[in-house]
Amino acid sequence: MVLRENEADDGQTSPLGTTFPKSQITRIQDLLLAWFRRSRRDLPWRRTSDPYRVWVSEIMLQQTRVTAVIPFYERFLARCPDVEALAAASESDLLSLWAGLGYYYRAHNMQRAARQIVEEGAFPPTFAGIRALPGVGDYTAAAISSISFGLPHAVVDGNVLRVLSRLLNDTSDIATSRGKREFTRAADELLNRAHPGDHNQALMELGATVCLPRKPQCLVCPLSELCRARAAGTVDQLPVKTKAKSPVSEERTLFWITRGDDLLIWQRAPESKLMPGFWELPELSELGQLEPLIEFGTFGHSITFHRYLFRVVSTAVPASLGPARWVPRTNLESLPLSTIARKAMRLVARKLEPSRAPKRRAASA
Ligand code: SF4
Repeated sequence: MVLRENEADDGQTSPLGTTFPKSQITRIQDLLLAWFRRSRRDLPWRRTSDPYRVWVSEIMLQQTRVTAVIPFYERFLARCPDVEALAAASESDLLSLWAGLGYYYRAHNMQRAARQIVEEGAFPPTFAGIRALPGVGDYTAAAISSISFGLPHAVVDGNVLRVLSRLLNDTSDIATSRGKREFTRAADELLNRAHPGDHNQALMELGATVCLPRKPQCLVCPLSELCRARAAGTVDQLPVKTKAKSPVSEERTLFWITRGDDLLIWQRAPESKLMPGFWELPELSELGQLEPLIEFGTFGHSITFHRYLFRVVSTAVPASLGPARWVPRTNLESLPLSTIARKAMRLVARKLEPSRAPKRRAASA
């Protein structure tokens, strides 16, 4: 990447591929590090550089907010304090620990990786070794290798992309691979190689707490004196990001079928791409054509760009149970139930026994 002095000082946005002069890079690194050491949030995974614990936090933080992750992280580490414990955990324990965080393939990949690490005898100490673990991409490998091993790899996530596009006043589209590639190069040039772990965390922290998507706090930003978008008055226009696919709406029916104290439910296969091993209420696809008797109500649930509206209805015991089986309702809490099944059960409980309906869990899948 070519360094171009004084670019964008005229208030125009920068073309793709611009970055800072070297003297400003050092100034940004120093300001950022001093601010982070002064102002960082005290998060449980910041009290350690143990690669296992950093890895667990980074995987949980994918797709999930910091505040929602904290109780899951603490519960997970109490049950699986090291890689050996994770490698040996039962499927049912693992899914119960992850229930509510969503995107369950993450837990399965972590266990596959944990077994690989135990077999190899130690957590891989290089970027390439970490990147080769199941479920680990460039971002996670850069985070672990810089925080735990002090290796010079820059992290690039949504927060970092936003901060860089504003700092550089660069209109490159952060949703395109070309835009991401260019900002990755800029992040690499900006990396403080003496303190890569703290630098990476500082840039992400700045994006999460100061350089917010809406209403960035420029007045208290440690980098405001060097921020090109602030100087040009273009902060609100950045980052440029093409719109994601519009959501797809779908209506589905879940069947509530009981026999005495038993409930009819089915378990997803271990090789299922979606929530393997989790238990669900049956739908028409499991049981064939059925006549609804009582409608308990509806609830919404979103998965990526799908917006589902689930209707929960009771019906008579069908002639064929398909893959479903009877489970005593008192045993349900010990099973890994999907978030959709839990929502349906809460809905039915509110209808049947309003005062005894179970409370919501901390986060939803
Ligand atoms: S000055 Fe404002 S826009 Fe620029 S990096 Fe700081 S918070 Fe973001």
